[in-house]
Amino acid sequence: MSIRFIRLSLPALLLWLALAGLARGDQGAGTLVLGAEPFYDLTTHLEILASPPEGLSLEQVRSEPWRGRFRPVTTPSLNLPSDELREYWLRFTLWAPPEIPAAAGTWLLATDYIFLGKIDLHRPGTQGWETIRAGLYLPFVNRELTNRAFVFQLPRLDQGPATCYLRLETRGLNPIRFQVWSLPAFITHTAKEDYLYGICFGVLSSMILFNLFIAASLRDRVYFHYVGYMFFALLSMVMLHGQIAAILDLGDQGFTRLFWTSMGLFTTFAYLFMRGVLNTHRLAPLVDRLLRLGSYYGLVIMVAGLFDQAWIGRWLTVASGIFSPWLALGAGIASYRRGFAAARYFLVAWGTLAAAMTIFALQEVGPLRGQYWARNALIIGTALESILLSLALAARIRTLQQERDVLSQSERRFKELSYTDALTGLYNKRYFSLNLDRILSDWVAPAQPPCLLFIDIDDFKSFNDSHGHDQGDLVLRGLARVMTESVREADLPCRWGGEEFAVILPGVGLEQAQAIAERIRQRFGQIAFIPAGQAVQKTISLGLAQFQPGETVEDFIRRADQALYQAKRSGKNRLAVAA
Ligand code: GH3
Ligand code: MG
Ligand code: MG
Repeated sequence: MSIRFIRLSLPALLLWLALAGLARGDQGAGTLVLGAEPFYDLTTHLEILASPPEGLSLEQVRSEPWRGRFRPVTTPSLNLPSDELREYWLRFTLWAPPEIPAAAGTWLLATDYIFLGKIDLHRPGTQGWETIRAGLYLPFVNRELTNRAFVFQLPRLDQGPATCYLRLETRGLNPIRFQVWSLPAFITHTAKEDYLYGICFGVLSSMILFNLFIAASLRDRVYFHYVGYMFFALLSMVMLHGQIAAILDLGDQGFTRLFWTSMGLFTTFAYLFMRGVLNTHRLAPLVDRLLRLGSYYGLVIMVAGLFDQAWIGRWLTVASGIFSPWLALGAGIASYRRGFAAARYFLVAWGTLAAAMTIFALQEVGPLRGQYWARNALIIGTALESILLSLALAARIRTLQQERDVLSQSERRFKELSYTDALTGLYNKRYFSLNLDRILSDWVAPAQPPCLLFIDIDDFKSFNDSHGHDQGDLVLRGLARVMTESVREADLPCRWGGEEFAVILPGVGLEQAQAIAERIRQRFGQIAFIPAGQAVQKTISLGLAQFQPGETVEDFIRRADQALYQAKRSGKNRLAVAA
């Protein structure tokens, strides 16, 4: 059915093409008339001949039988994938009607497809055929016109139509297009593109350097992955767009190897970076495993390229281009849904790149063909992505910092809890013991030896018995408040246990300690507790001791305790001082 369809439609198509050609005033197939426009797409005016394995010379392709075997190119770009090295001849005829002044000017032939081992232009000159050589094998400086693309000067057309031949030697032609430019238009075009490349590559370079410094100072692996990711993105682009030739003469094979190495490492670092910045290891283990596979996948692309199996790299890259956006999107959403705020920037960055890819694709297939912004959408998108991902890195650091703060806060809170008494808010006995030891060992003469004050509520059991435990607790709290308000900054008021309290008073004379103790006793005695509608006042007994150089901590405590016992025995509601 399809063969029948082609048989029927082919003559119709040829007839239509012939009519269209007549309407345009063409000189026949393969002829391009110049003059009215500053720029022409040459691709559809080309005729192509694939050479036999032994190759063909210019004389051969200009004479029968090869002359008649050229076929018109009907697609908007040449697409002839192959794995081994092949030779192609392209033929085209240019004509400039003399009545259009621009026609007499200089015209250039250009292609920005840079994977061409050799590209030679054969043009008619004043002394017969001239051959202009270019291609990756030829150092940049030896080319007729130095440009990131392959550019040739076309013959003058004031003498009438001129037929030229292009000889290509390459491993497969993937969308390759040829244009014819008037010299002023080409200069404008080149300048406009070069400014944009300068800005985008500049943004990428500064983001790489900036984050490299941060990576070096923080020693944070994710920053190194960002640097690797963006560096190989930049290198791949500088190669893909041909600028690398101005810095490095790599030759055909060197170029291909470096390109696939770069693409492979770009892929590897992209996945490593995603894992790190999204914290998938912790937040989404399944996604994390997929991303790790992706990073090995990049290494396979690199190895394939290094062993000259570029076709493997090409297919792997195409496959990666299909699944990696979904993987990145899935990873970003997974991380975001588990509350990782940095994932937001990551998603915006990916969205930007996806939009750029879509615009670029629309440019390739038709609707936006040739438009400046659409043609350069990928490098603009990548430059924006580098900024947004750098923001994602900053947000990630902020999130990690916040997590650490919360952690240390709760740690501090926990410590506090383990050192304080829940009912009164005073330090507990553990804290008391630790600090008494420390204060005693810190003490050196002639500073005043520390004092220790023990406090016990008088007849507390009967208060509890008549008014209840809860009312008793209020009394305990009341005493705690009085103690806190009556001591100095350096003193440590503690709840020793039950209704017994203690205060460590460092660096204070016995007299001043006595004054503090009296102050506590009096203030507490003035508080009116109202457990059953009637005011009740409580009293305390206190025992005070000053540390005696040479005695043990236990002896020191015992003496304070004995003083307290002394106060109880001599009638309560009083202070007794140990001898
Ligand atoms: P003294 O004047 O000799 O100190 O007599 P006291 O009744 O105060 O002494 P005793 O040691 O016999 O009784 C202490 C009471 O303290 C017993 C217990 O009910 C009370 N108590 C201990 N811890 C708490 C507490 O956390 N809350 C309350 N409400 N009471 C407590
Ligand atoms: Mg007691
Ligand atoms: Mg008591």
